[in-house]
Amino acid sequence: MTAAARVLIVEDEPKIARLAADYLTAAGCETVMVHRGDDALARFAEDRFDLVVLDLMLPGLDGLSLCRALRAESTVPIVMVTARVEEVDRLLGLEVGADDYLCKPFSPRELVARVKAQLRRQQWQRSDPGEGLELQDEALRAVFAQQAVDLTRVEFRILSALLQNEGVILSRDQLIAAAYEDHRVVSDRTIDTHMKNLRKKLSTIMGDAMGIRSVYGVGYRWELSGKDE
Ligand code: CA
Repeated sequence: MTAAARVLIVEDEPKIARLAADYLTAAGCETVMVHRGDDALARFAEDRFDLVVLDLMLPGLDGLSLCRALRAESTVPIVMVTARVEEVDRLLGLEVGADDYLCKPFSPRELVARVKAQLRRQQWQRSDPGEGLELQDEALRAVFAQQAVDLTRVEFRILSALLQNEGVILSRDQLIAAAYEDHRVVSDRTIDTHMKNLRKKLSTIMGDAMGIRSVYGVGYRWELSGKDE
């Protein structure tokens, strides 16, 4: 990650904000804390930030409205913090547009891991996507460390979607949309089966570097370090 990624922490509970700031600072980020939603919007407008950590329940302007307002003007990665797991699908959906989420109470280490993943993804979009994994479109082939594996068209599309969204959870619906151009109705299990085959194939050439992670109850993401959740 960049040495001085600037992170805006929007959190009205001072202790949590402080803890997040301390851990992110230790991880090499510059942090700015604000405690109100409306202040966050003003601060974002006048300064440059690489990422926003956003609590859902805030005075001034709630996290949902704030997230939408930020999304309307910026592609900055947004990690939402919520106390309610039921809200997650909505937060990650197009309407709100968060990139990732954490449920309260969260461990500060987990926060750092999520922030780093989002910052890596941002860098990835500017530089080398696969960190050594190359996709050969015409041959439907993935190559890593000079070893190749053949993929089906569907596997290839799923993998492309995951890589293009490194660090971001894609729901099964999003993966189905990416994998099938004809908008056919496909069951979640079908995606799981493709994913299982894809993971197996990639593991033969990448070993532990294989980055597909399954996120329980939500979907899948590509992340070079970490485990299934
Ligand atoms: Ca709060």
